[in-house]
Amino acid sequence: MTTTRFAPSPTGHIHVGNLRTALMNYLIARKSGGTFILRIDDTDPERSKQEYVDAIQEDLEWLGLTWDRMERQSTRLERYEDAAQQLRDMGRFYECFETPTELDLKRKKQLNMGKPPVYDRAALALSDDDKAALRAERGTGHWRFKLDHARIEWTDGILGDRSIDAASVSDPVLIRADGQFLYTLASVCDDIDFGITDVVRGSDHVTNTATQIQIIEALGGGVPNFAHHSLLTGPQGEALSKRLGTLALRDLREAGVEPMALLSLMARLGSSDPVELRSSIEEIAEGFDVNKFGAAPTKFDEQDLYPLTGKVLHEKPLSEMADDIAAAGVPADLAERFWNVTRENITTRKDLAPWWDLFANGAEPAIDEEDQDFIKEAMTLLPEGPFDDSTWGTWTAAVKEATGRKGRGLFMPLRKALTGQSHGPDMSAVMPLLQVIKARG
Ligand code: GLU
Repeated sequence: MTTTRFAPSPTGHIHVGNLRTALMNYLIARKSGGTFILRIDDTDPERSKQEYVDAIQEDLEWLGLTWDRMERQSTRLERYEDAAQQLRDMGRFYECFETPTELDLKRKKQLNMGKPPVYDRAALALSDDDKAALRAERGTGHWRFKLDHARIEWTDGILGDRSIDAASVSDPVLIRADGQFLYTLASVCDDIDFGITDVVRGSDHVTNTATQIQIIEALGGGVPNFAHHSLLTGPQGEALSKRLGTLALRDLREAGVEPMALLSLMARLGSSDPVELRSSIEEIAEGFDVNKFGAAPTKFDEQDLYPLTGKVLHEKPLSEMADDIAAAGVPADLAERFWNVTRENITTRKDLAPWWDLFANGAEPAIDEEDQDFIKEAMTLLPEGPFDDSTWGTWTAAVKEATGRKGRGLFMPLRKALTGQSHGPDMSAVMPLLQVIKARG
């Protein structure tokens, strides 16, 4: 049975980068009829905020990424304490007393000598008396897991065969001097206890994975399948890390991006499959395979979301748009006509209100210099409203008759005079919606 998890820290809003992780784990679980867990990594009491926990749930719900179970690390501290004790009893956990400044100095020295900045395990040499003295002087120490200096190997679902020499990695700190359990220990305990079978996360976690494999094994757990997706870059390959703050899911929602547009893009971007708009998560899950994703950085362009969003909307029946159409101010008896006229001329739902404003209050006419007289004459031929489906045909025929203009030279200036735009929906369908014609003067 497959069990996956999405494990955000509630220290901010989730963004497109997080969505990639969430979606991949979600799809793996859904595809196999397994379990998807939302795990809140809130062991840092200072930075974790309930408002972000709420926001994360809201964002996932908006996308339809529902979880079967929710867990919070802050409720499991006893379990982490037990695991820490287990590691101490095994001789795999040791207390260290170096200050951040001392550690920094050690790293700099190592780098100066051309050595990798790996923790030198000086604390392992401390006697019980040394430790008692240091504790009296500096307070409780922080705790490191003693890695077994062997090669750590796994077959990564995206990166392929990986092998990391444990001696090239510092023994990870699992408990801070103030007693706070760090993510690594909490995550490992949770992955074991919740029976996580597959972990997909960003490639910034590759080294964590190496150390976590050893901790899982030390604690007697089964090692899940790991896959590390590449990090997102901007369209030109530029780092996205600084901009991710502006690519929060709630900002995209606010900008009018449709869930299926976002899901369709993110579920295929960076894979060997083309991005195609899908109409349901089930359909997205069908062809999904984490092995199809490449290791190279993945270019993400926010602008790609808009044509997809437009496509999602074009397909929508009136029933799914009625609330937004009413909110744009359209009277119920005109809703259907309004939707049929505008559906192919909007990119997001936000475009509905400007269209209604144009129909209800009239558009500023756009009249080219050479068309001034022509439009004046055309206006004298325009019947009083209300207009119907035949108004445009009858009127343009009369204008043609009177002015001798035809084709584009006839229709385009009229469209621009009535709507202020050179493109847009079929004018015969627009006419019955027009309440005010400013070009009448
Ligand atoms: N809270 C961690 C993060 O957001 C989770 C990483 C993981 O998936 O293990 O980076």
